[in-house]
Amino acid sequence: MTIATILLAFVLGIITWTFLEYALHRFVGHKKHGKNEFTKEHQTHHRLGHYFAPMWKKLLFALGVLAVSGALSGLVFGWGFGFVYSFGIAAMYLFYEWLHKRAHTHGPLNFYGRWLRKHHFYHHFGDPKMNHGVTTPFWDMVFRTNAKVGELAVPRKMVLPWLVDNQGEMLPEFEGEYVVR
Ligand SMILES: [Zn+2]
Ligand SMILES: [Zn+2]
Repeated sequence: MTIATILLAFVLGIITWTFLEYALHRFVGHKKHGKNEFTKEHQTHHRLGHYFAPMWKKLLFALGVLAVSGALSGLVFGWGFGFVYSFGIAAMYLFYEWLHKRAHTHGPLNFYGRWLRKHHFYHHFGDPKMNHGVTTPFWDMVFRTNAKVGELAVPRKMVLPWLVDNQGEMLPEFEGEYVVR
């Protein structure tokens, strides 16, 4: 494989994950009928806010996704390509896990972090039918579920630890972006 092919396989893997992130969240996480383990875990994440599915379940799930993507892409494009492609999916998946958890536990450090939090917490506290993507708004734009978020109301009992001080007062730097009710 040439460097260009390796890069292509890796980038395609990254893009594939962003699609899986959107589709699994929207169509499995928010499934109405025939709820499975994934759906239940995701509903608990919504209900409690600070809950994340246990690592072993995530790893098991990730391995399943990788086995399928590796086998399919390997059969179609060859095993070298399939391996790098799956590696791209896995890398972006881990990045997503880290970013999502971090969004709940720590405040933003830059423009991307500020955007990601507003986008994701609108999904939590505004409208769970919108903003399914976490790392990128791309698929929300494609499927018309991207909501522009103005000032976001966060329920006091679900307040994010980084949004408030020890007294529970919202930090002044988030004035105009969030309001705690
Ligand atoms: Zn979340
Ligand atoms: Zn959700």
